[in-house]
Amino acid sequence: MSNATSSLDSGNEEIQHLEKTCKLTDSSDYEQKNSPTHQETSSYSIYGVDWSKHAKSTSHCWLPYLPKKSSSSRLCTCLLCQNSQLRSDSSFMECPTCSLIVHSTHLSEYTEANNYSNQCSLPPCRPSFMDDSTTDDTTTYDQHCWSPLSNLSKPCTYCKNKKLKATSNDRHDQETLETEFVCMWCSRQCHRLCWENIKNDANNNQCDYGEFSNIIVRPQWLHRATNNPCRFQACMPESPGANDNLLAPVIFFVNKLSGGQKGQEFYRTLVRLLNPRQVFLLENDSTVMQALEIYSSLHNARVCICGGDGTVGWILSHLVDRFPSLTNLPAGICPLGTGNDLSRVLGWGNEYTSARLFKTLTQIARAHPVALDRWKIHLETLDPNASDAEFGTIHRSRFSFREHPKFIRNAELPVYDNHRTPINSFFFNYISFGLDAAVVMDFHARRTRDPSEFTSPFKNKLMFINESRKYFNEFAFGIAWNIGSYIRLICDGQDLTNTIRNYHSVVLLNTPGFGSGTQPWGRTSTTTAVNDFEAQDFSDRMIEVLALNTTQMALIHVGFRGTRIAQCRQVRVELSHPMPVHMDGEPFYLAGSTAVDITHAGQVMVLNNE
Ligand SMILES: [Zn+2]
Ligand SMILES: [Zn+2]
Ligand SMILES: [Zn+2]
Ligand SMILES: [Zn+2]
Repeated sequence: MSNATSSLDSGNEEIQHLEKTCKLTDSSDYEQKNSPTHQETSSYSIYGVDWSKHAKSTSHCWLPYLPKKSSSSRLCTCLLCQNSQLRSDSSFMECPTCSLIVHSTHLSEYTEANNYSNQCSLPPCRPSFMDDSTTDDTTTYDQHCWSPLSNLSKPCTYCKNKKLKATSNDRHDQETLETEFVCMWCSRQCHRLCWENIKNDANNNQCDYGEFSNIIVRPQWLHRATNNPCRFQACMPESPGANDNLLAPVIFFVNKLSGGQKGQEFYRTLVRLLNPRQVFLLENDSTVMQALEIYSSLHNARVCICGGDGTVGWILSHLVDRFPSLTNLPAGICPLGTGNDLSRVLGWGNEYTSARLFKTLTQIARAHPVALDRWKIHLETLDPNASDAEFGTIHRSRFSFREHPKFIRNAELPVYDNHRTPINSFFFNYISFGLDAAVVMDFHARRTRDPSEFTSPFKNKLMFINESRKYFNEFAFGIAWNIGSYIRLICDGQDLTNTIRNYHSVVLLNTPGFGSGTQPWGRTSTTTAVNDFEAQDFSDRMIEVLALNTTQMALIHVGFRGTRIAQCRQVRVELSHPMPVHMDGEPFYLAGSTAVDITHAGQVMVLNNE
């Protein structure tokens, strides 16, 4: 469970390297601070969000500077700096929250001196929590947080005029270029002269936090907690006002390796728009547990998982395990990976764009919590002789080794050695056995060998079709096999192996969505002479079992469905041969003579965006 990264989410080595060099992680900082060998005198990293006991409410969130194509050079904001020009050969750090850019050498000077008062040569960042030393005076809450700006891009919030005031022109020439102001919370802008009227009047200076006000974690909700190992605790004031019912603060978990550089961009955007302390870069299990610890008591808080299916499953499992049944912070999804089945099913889209991000930020507070079933797989090694007898040699003796499907002939190839065990023991979407899983497995192996060929969703799709074709070619040469010869399927205690004799894949579905946005169970309920099937429901503690032949595997992509086998509470699949398995986007090989027991394993509240 400790592996954060779905193998569907392609990483970016350059960024990874950059981050290692800069120790850009809030959680590794945790680790360092919590480890018994740590000494207070050792050099202390101030990169990323500082959750240590040294944290200051107005400290910056330093990240390596990423030049934007659109903007020209920026100046080093450090007031003491003699070399303020941005040169391409010197490295810079930026704080996405307040857009400060400084030479990285200034930050290491602070680090070495371990003297935080030096930071007074930099303007403070906007406050991210309520420090105990600051006043409890509620009139200091929810104030604009002004930062210098060169030109107004929208009308002044005070005088409603966009043009420069005549009286301010003189100053403009004499002083720095940045003479106007923008609020770092609500993005309202104002003239310097108007600002002088606003800043000292608590009423005029009241900030409503702008477009994302209902999901922003207000600084006054977050306090130091000395008796808490996480050092921080969030809670709302005791008597929320009438309007506060609309508040739904959202905690974001971002997989920085998802979707190439998108995870990075995405993290910076969130840190700029929201409170940096409500956005977490996923590192390991302790990042998730500490974040949930800090925010679990915050009224009406929600979670947004930003990544592919692997990341989503990882966080959802934490939510199931951390909270009593169905009391977890409900989770929405922002799709960042290439496999985004659950995101699609719950209405959060299948691909990340910046437009998608802004939609998600405005929709997540209004989305409805619904229950989602979780399923567990349990592996058991069978006695090969006993299972041989059970399968009966009649079926298999018809096949010589050469006639076994390619995925069984090739099962021992070293190229699959990284895929011998399942990464997770739970799934939320689907698990499939046989040909479908074999195609996905080869696609993954190919992508690991040759990542340069898999740079866009479109190219990925082409490569996927290419891999599938190799398998379908086998059928053109008249080789006939069926999945029923290699697995035994038992649903709610009933042996249904005979019903899968004409098929090549067996799929167990919890949600309607299967790989690449197909819906192989179909929408409606059916009644046949043999079976009654209800419409699919991901919170009914039932799992749908269906079978696909090669034709159906192609046709589900154009809206057709597979063959419905069962709707049941538990499934046992016994494998006589090594078998590729595909579970929530992750392919792996299971050894022959293995039994897989699939049972219901709790429910989690997720957000449905309809
Ligand atoms: Zn800052
Ligand atoms: Zn400088
Ligand atoms: Zn404001
Ligand atoms: Zn004005």
